[in-house]
Amino acid sequence: MTPSDPTRTLADLENGIPFVARHLGPDDSELATMAEVIGVGSLDELADRAVPPGIRTATDAGPGTLPPAATESEALAELRALAARNNPTVPMIGLGYHGTVTPPVIRRSVLENPAWYTAYTPYQPEISQGRLEALLNFQTVVSDLTGLPVAGASMLDEATAAAEAMTLVRRAGRAASPRFLVDADTLPRTLAVLHTRAEPLGIEIVEADLTGGELPDGEFFGVLLSYPGASGSVADHASLVEQAHARGAKVVVAADPLALTLLRAPGEIGADVAVGSTQRFGVPLGFGGPHAGYLAVRDELRRQLPGRLVGLSVDADGNPALRLALQTREQHIRREKATSNICTAQVLLAVIASMYAVYHGPDGLRAIATRAHRMAAVLAAALRAGGVEVLDGAFFDTLVARVAAGQADAVLAAAHARGIALRRVDDDRVGVSCSELTTRAHLVDVAAAFGVTVTPAELDELDAATPDALPAALRRESDYLTHPVFHRYRSETALLRYLRRLADADMALDRGMIPLGSCTMKLNAAAEMEPITWPGFADLHPHAPAADADGTLTLIADLERWLAELTGYAAVSLQPNAGSQGELAGLLAIRAYHRDRGEGHRDVCLIPASAHGTNAASAVMAGMRVVVVACDDNGDVDLADLRAKIDEHGVSLGALMITYPSTHGVYEAGVREVCSAVHEAGGQVYLDGANLNALLGLAKPGEFGGDVSHLNLHKTFCIPHGGGGPGVGPVAVREHLAPYLPDRGAGAVSGAEYGSPGVLPISWAYLRMMGADGLRRATLVAVAAANYVARRLSAHYPVLYTGPGGFVAHECILDLRPLTAATGVTVDDVAKRLADYGLHAPTMSFPVAGTLMVEPTESENLAELDRFCDAMISIRSEIDRVAAGEWPVEDNPLRGAPHTAACIADKWDHPYPRELAAYPTGATEGKVWPPVRRIDGAHGDRHLVCSCPPVEAYG
Ligand SMILES: *Cc1c(COP(=O)(O)O)cnc(C)c1O
Repeated sequence: MTPSDPTRTLADLENGIPFVARHLGPDDSELATMAEVIGVGSLDELADRAVPPGIRTATDAGPGTLPPAATESEALAELRALAARNNPTVPMIGLGYHGTVTPPVIRRSVLENPAWYTAYTPYQPEISQGRLEALLNFQTVVSDLTGLPVAGASMLDEATAAAEAMTLVRRAGRAASPRFLVDADTLPRTLAVLHTRAEPLGIEIVEADLTGGELPDGEFFGVLLSYPGASGSVADHASLVEQAHARGAKVVVAADPLALTLLRAPGEIGADVAVGSTQRFGVPLGFGGPHAGYLAVRDELRRQLPGRLVGLSVDADGNPALRLALQTREQHIRREKATSNICTAQVLLAVIASMYAVYHGPDGLRAIATRAHRMAAVLAAALRAGGVEVLDGAFFDTLVARVAAGQADAVLAAAHARGIALRRVDDDRVGVSCSELTTRAHLVDVAAAFGVTVTPAELDELDAATPDALPAALRRESDYLTHPVFHRYRSETALLRYLRRLADADMALDRGMIPLGSCTMKLNAAAEMEPITWPGFADLHPHAPAADADGTLTLIADLERWLAELTGYAAVSLQPNAGSQGELAGLLAIRAYHRDRGEGHRDVCLIPASAHGTNAASAVMAGMRVVVVACDDNGDVDLADLRAKIDEHGVSLGALMITYPSTHGVYEAGVREVCSAVHEAGGQVYLDGANLNALLGLAKPGEFGGDVSHLNLHKTFCIPHGGGGPGVGPVAVREHLAPYLPDRGAGAVSGAEYGSPGVLPISWAYLRMMGADGLRRATLVAVAAANYVARRLSAHYPVLYTGPGGFVAHECILDLRPLTAATGVTVDDVAKRLADYGLHAPTMSFPVAGTLMVEPTESENLAELDRFCDAMISIRSEIDRVAAGEWPVEDNPLRGAPHTAACIADKWDHPYPRELAAYPTGATEGKVWPPVRRIDGAHGDRHLVCSCPPVEAYG
């Protein structure tokens, strides 16, 4: 429609350019060019030829509940209206979630900055030094505050971190007992997740009141203590730790990192592991998430650490450089023997928390903690002076008051009327948590809600007269955050430039395409991102009364309904906060279903050899036995082997986990047959939906054989990867499994009931602005882009697998193994050389070692697709020069890659010219300089340094 088109209406002019045209990279003429190269007449013809007809959705399915596409302005107006239906009150509920201020410079330069939020997990460390440094700072904050030397680069939340700690100490310890002792004063959601995670593994959770300072009788392999407890009370756990160790049990301490600025560190009282949440380090509440959890361990437990760990190493020139350490612990390598299933974590939120500590420094954090503590102490004094009973004992920021019998609700209502949310402990006890946000005016209002009148001036008098409520023996005496990074950036200008410098070291989507197969690095539109920092969404406490969360609850209901409809499932839970957690939730649903039918013996989970590492790791966590099914020469599930395994395991068959399209990037024609074979044998089909970007609008997993799937909202549905998280991994099920979703028949899998609602406006906006037609078109364009790349590159690198008609789905695997065998040039060399070309490498060696998997997505235009293809073709010609003997295999532009400005300026004694090293295409404009040269991973693993090293190390 052009403005001069005689058929155009006023409505057309009003609607302007539809969002779909902004979301998609190629326009119609570019698509026509691509279709020609692919050899199809149209996108629809491509779909007809590439996607097996047996799985296609009927095109006359009729309008669903997903409304027709809205414009960006319309969607934002609707979201504004939803945000306005929330009533974020002053959060004094506590329970692990606290008011905090995201320093505006961090909000704007990190949370709202595509250079940070569109980055991927730092698997290409040479072009990820910025976020790796930020994560090293995070690890240092956690390690310093907990007094434990090794901390990972974020857990999904506090509750799952506690569950990871539980399984960690079980693996690491020698105790034979299956019992894990948990302090009864633990956050209720942490307890719930511990129960969920313990049961399939045969761990028995024993809850005990430990206020007496004595462990109950019996054997335990581990103990979880809270510091402070859910009630707010701060106990000296030293003796409990000693008792536990004497019995051969390891000790996990769940600790509030802000409290640790004033309290003795868990490591100093003998804890083996510390876990918690860094939410109150500047991360918005978001109705429960996303926030970065943390986990830190004693040095001897470092190989047991779940998830990602950043460590220092050196590059090819001997300069310090960061990369992910000890990766052999992780699911993508160890699979069913991994320490955990964690893949996507909470990197963006960990970066925010780390920068909060960088900006405030130790003094600033101590001041914030002191504020929270003194506000609580003075409030306690004011309440007591007014005749209200405040429960005895030491506390940090949270107190519990006893009110007249049955009057808790009345106090809560009186506080709510003043815009403050308190915690209902029970009928006659009320909890109040103070934070960085708490003011004297709030204390006046809270006191009034309890029927106590106090003035700000009287509060000042009480402050002078009231001692701290922290036990003297628990006062922190050790230093923390002594590294210069926590002292250098106290002015906004200094921090602004530090953030810019780090971001400039990285390649994110704001610099170029990130063709990572299986990761779906598509556009994260500004209109999708904008709402997440609106106070209406961002400032909501997860335990706020439902009436105060009406807007977010409506958004959640919309999203659940739309996702169910798009996938052909009956019900969806948004609780899992990553794909891996969705897998666990889905497998637990299958397990519960079998058990309810008296078939609890069905515990075998068949997993194709090509599956994502999380699949196998999740199956083990769900108490299943992993049996690997072979793939045939085409990369498809080997039907003969599948049938043999089904026969072999008979009534033990619990489930098959299959990815569709396969991790080989192919629409397997036999998927219905595979699913039927499993169903006929009494098993359930778990269909990994991470590749839904190849299906939306064309086929529905719930209709062609899946009983349950997880989706990755951070892949298909535009939540940005954030440098390695946040993620949202909703689990979608058919009717018969609906009773077993998280917090229904099955237990909790995340700390927050709705997982990470803070980022759900992104996916909501995407669906709202695309509409069903737009989503379908996005799928077609994504498939076209992958086939275009496959066609352009197949003469230079064999495309390993193709499906019906010789087409791939939304990604393609380039097989470098023959080239490597012939020339010695490796996938690593090619990946690193791409950085010299200003491009991010594709996925390396997954799902097949020695290959590159390319997923261009629908958001890259033809020029960018060509820039990538041209670079790959040019690299191929460089490989040929190595093959021809022009350059030795150990000294050529590929092996030398990436090249830094420093190495180009240094003395040059290579057989290839500097110009070629630095400007491989000849173009100098827009050159992105990698900040370090090829990093030696093994060196770093041998000399593990995973917190900020002394400055001399950088000499
Ligand atoms: C990304 C992915 C996962 C895991 O998702 P996370 O959110 O990283 O935990 C699982 N399966 C497949 C096929 C994937 O691509």
